[in-house]
Amino acid sequence: MLSARRSALLAALLILLTPMVSGCSAPSLDTHGSELAESVRSLVTPSGLEEQLVAIAQYERPSGSEGENAAIDHIVAVLRGDGIPVDIYTFQAYASDPVSATIEVVGADLEPEAITYSFSAAAERLEGRLVDVGTLDDLPDLETGTGERLVLRGDAAGRASAAGGSRGGGSTQVAPTRADVPDLAGAIALIEGNPGTASVDQLALMGAVGAIFINSEERLNDLIVTTTWGTPSLRNYHRLPTLPAAHVKNSDGEALRSLMSRGTVRVRLTTEVDTGWKEHRLVVARIPPPDPDATYVVFGGHIDAWYHGACDEAASNAAMLELARAFYHHRALLRRGLVVAWWPGHSNARYGGSTWYADNFFDDLRSRAVAYVNVDGIGQRDAKRFSANASAALAGLAESVVRQRTGEEIRPRRPGRNSDQSFNGVGLPLMQLNHNRLAEDGGYWWWHTPDDTLDKVDPEVLKVDADLYADGLAALLADPILPVDLVAQVEALGAAIERRQAEAGERFDLGEARRRQVHLRELVDRIQGSLTGGGGVQVDLALVDVLRPLHRVMYSPSSPFHPDPGLDSRPLPGFSALGVFAEEDPASDRYRFAEVSLIRERNRLLEALDRSTAAAERLLASGGL
Ligand SMILES: [Zn+2]
Repeated sequence: MLSARRSALLAALLILLTPMVSGCSAPSLDTHGSELAESVRSLVTPSGLEEQLVAIAQYERPSGSEGENAAIDHIVAVLRGDGIPVDIYTFQAYASDPVSATIEVVGADLEPEAITYSFSAAAERLEGRLVDVGTLDDLPDLETGTGERLVLRGDAAGRASAAGGSRGGGSTQVAPTRADVPDLAGAIALIEGNPGTASVDQLALMGAVGAIFINSEERLNDLIVTTTWGTPSLRNYHRLPTLPAAHVKNSDGEALRSLMSRGTVRVRLTTEVDTGWKEHRLVVARIPPPDPDATYVVFGGHIDAWYHGACDEAASNAAMLELARAFYHHRALLRRGLVVAWWPGHSNARYGGSTWYADNFFDDLRSRAVAYVNVDGIGQRDAKRFSANASAALAGLAESVVRQRTGEEIRPRRPGRNSDQSFNGVGLPLMQLNHNRLAEDGGYWWWHTPDDTLDKVDPEVLKVDADLYADGLAALLADPILPVDLVAQVEALGAAIERRQAEAGERFDLGEARRRQVHLRELVDRIQGSLTGGGGVQVDLALVDVLRPLHRVMYSPSSPFHPDPGLDSRPLPGFSALGVFAEEDPASDRYRFAEVSLIRERNRLLEALDRSTAAAERLLASGGL
């Protein structure tokens, strides 16, 4: 029904294609967006931001807590006070709050201060030999491309061979890396560094029964250690960690190492976590444009925090609130709707709120949303470095916004997998603007600690950062032509295919994908050179139809509907199995398993290119530009 309506409307648009412009540059900020941006910026003031910041940061806000609910109530009251439509969703998410950790050193008078992590396993005086495994860099890599199950690199093929006995050829081929992996059977691992989401899994796969992570500095940072993204499903609940883990300050780690230098050290590890189903509340402000059928942009950041979380991220929440109010005030200028979401479950459910929203509004997002803008950690005192993470389609917008407001040239990086980037399956162009305190200015050391207090936020910096978001959102909301760069996205895909081909060498052929990408590049060049018309809902949707298949294959390794572990953020992550070719004999099981993965992923890439090409051809044929 949608496509029939779309076709009819496209056919009704009679603006002719302008002559083909080749090599056209990224869309620049449009005057419509600029007018809205200026109006919005004038309503967002340092004192207004500070007032909201203080109101939110007064509460400690672990997700599902009274403090988080009080902050949510404040946001709802302010929004409703202005008459802004607000929806509040209440749902259960599988979350984990760290409670406590203690470490007893058997036979020694040392009891380091310790905390545990969100999604650590619980343990009661678990005793084991302490084994120093060095730093995080010393951990063996996980096999990439194994899908839902995680294994150490080379381990899958090794086990398959062991289970299947001799099957000739390479059945005894196991990756050489396995021989280098220390056996931690029954041991408690001591390791330097703050864990990534997969670190405890890596140690468990090495045989460890517990882990103690040493902070590189004299503090304790709260973190989460699960590879599940959002609430687990039947597909991946088996990946919930089984290893209890604790975190100690650097000096305590050194004290443990000093004891170990004198002989075997045994420790008893106790970790308490509160893991299970918790009620979460999600506030969504929906700022309507004059056209009720218009597309919309989602703007999100997390409401929950470790402790008072002033920088991370009451400051961002305050900016979201003031921007929502300002955009609502000027809603007559909107061509697209603005959906502002304060995500719960970021810190204790690994993006549980944004994932819940993606799961439960998938159909609507896929039908009418045109971009996701994420905000995390703005307003840092002494912040000096601007940067951005963006899909290639929005990198040009991020660059223009930062250049126009600050004069700084930035080179946006690809989207990370470290915040609420939960909409890659929907296929939404993604942008996040950053402004960081550099290490030479003292760094962002208070992150995820009780020291993330109001004095760490500078309202003047927050105003600069909120203005950047005002500009970026205004362009997305008010420019007649949605400011997405199709050419940049297709070129980024071409570059990624080239890199993957170089990685494969003669062993795997991506030539056909490259040929189809070159053809698509010509089509989107023509589209972008012709985008001089008035735009409209159907043009917005048609542009995203071109981008969606590319976005999915470029930034997500597997299904659009089931979140991946988020461990690999390189473009075309589904081709990570190419790394196996460099390590293995072509006769080995592991090489051949990798080859099958790659053939299937190449099918996925070709289909994505064909779908995108078909969408581009439809748009060109419609003349509705
Ligand atoms: Zn954050």
